[in-house]
Amino acid sequence: MSRAVLPGATIGVLGSGQLGRMFAIAARRMGYRVHVYSPDVDTPTGQVADLEVVAPYDDLDAVRRFAQGAEVVTFEFENVPFETAEAAAERAHVRPAGRVLHTTQNREREKTFLARAGFPVPRFAVVRSIGDLRAALDAVGCPAVLKTARFGYDGKGQARITSPGDAGAAWDALGRQDAVLEAFVDFDRELSVVAARGLTGAVADYGAVENRHRDHILDLTTAPAEVPPEVAAEASRLARGILDALDVVGVLCVELFLARDGRLLVNELAPRPHNSGHFTFDACVTSQFEQQLRAVCGLPLGSPRQLQPAAMANLLGDLWQAGEPRWEAACAFPDVKVHLYGKSAARPGRKMGHLTALAASSAEAARLALAARDALTIR
Ligand code: AMP
Repeated sequence: MSRAVLPGATIGVLGSGQLGRMFAIAARRMGYRVHVYSPDVDTPTGQVADLEVVAPYDDLDAVRRFAQGAEVVTFEFENVPFETAEAAAERAHVRPAGRVLHTTQNREREKTFLARAGFPVPRFAVVRSIGDLRAALDAVGCPAVLKTARFGYDGKGQARITSPGDAGAAWDALGRQDAVLEAFVDFDRELSVVAARGLTGAVADYGAVENRHRDHILDLTTAPAEVPPEVAAEASRLARGILDALDVVGVLCVELFLARDGRLLVNELAPRPHNSGHFTFDACVTSQFEQQLRAVCGLPLGSPRQLQPAAMANLLGDLWQAGEPRWEAACAFPDVKVHLYGKSAARPGRKMGHLTALAASSAEAARLALAARDALTIR
C-alpha cells in the first residue's frame, strides 16, 4: 500500500471543465496544489488552478512532464485517451487507473463488463455493420436505441429505432461506426448513485437521486430520490458492487433506469464526479469532489451524509439568450446557492452553472430550484 498523498502535495487533473473546477476548489480548500492539463486555455479549471498546462492529449511527452510535477493524477473527463493515462502513470499514480477509463469510455466494453459481472442492463447487442444491426434488431426487438460505442454523452451519438425499416437511416445517421443496440426501456424514472472508493477498498455512496432530462441533457436532480426504500437500497448495492468489480479508486457515477416493472437497469457509468452529484457540494458533509480528492490521495473517505434534502437545476447557455441572467433574483432565494463555471461563451446546451436549493423535502427543494431559475429570466 502506498503512502497517503498529504496536503501541500500537487494533484494533476486531466481535463479542464467544471468538474475539475469544483475538484480544484475542494483540493485547494484542503491545502493541495492543483495543476490542470487540457488543450484549452482560460478554462473553468485553469481559472482556479495553480497551473494551467495547455497541450494536446496525444502529446505524450508533455503528458509525462505534467505527471512528473504531480504526485497523483486524476481526470475529470473520461474521454482522455487511454494512452494519455498510461503515459501519466509512468511518472505518477493515476487514479482511477487507466483501465477503468478504458472500460467506461466505450459502451461496448462497458456493457459487456456489466453483463458478464452479473449487473442488470437493458438487452443489447454489439453492432459493427448494417448486417449486424439487422440481426441485432431481431434479437433485441423494437423499439430500440442505437448508440455509438465511443464519444456518446448527453444523448449525442444516439438514434431511436421504432421499426426494423429504420435500420439503414439510423446506421447512416450515426456515421456507420461501431455501436451498441439497446432495447428501449419504458422507464418510470431515471436515477443515479454517485459513490467513492478509497485505496483500502472502503466505499461511501450518496444514495439514489432522481434525474430529469430535457433534450437528453440533465435538467434537474432531486436528492434523495423519492422511491421505496428497497429500491434506494438496491441502487446503492449495485453502485457499490460496480465500484468493487471495477476496482475503482476515486469517484464513479452509476446511471440507472427504474423500469415500470420495478427493476433497476444500469444505463451507463461515469468514472468521475457527476452532474447529478453537484448537490453534494452544498448538501453533504463531504462533497463528491472532496471525496474524489480523499480517494485519489489515499486518505480515509469522508462522510457522505446528506444534511438536508436538496435539488440541483442546471443553468444552460440558453438562459443567456435575452441577455445576462438576473443573478440578484436567484440570490433573493436565501436557501439557493449559485454556482457558475467561468465560461465566457454561453452557447445553447452548454452547461454554464447550476443552482442548488435546500429545503425540508426533495420535492420542495425542486420547486425552489426551479423557481429560482425562472427568476433569472423574468424581466
Ligand atoms: P445516455 O447518453 O446513454 O445516458 O442516454 C441519454 C438519455 O437518453 C438517457 O438519460 C435516457 O433519458 C435516454 N435513453 C438512453 N438509453 C435509453 C434506453 N435504452 N431506453 C430509454 N431511454 C434511453
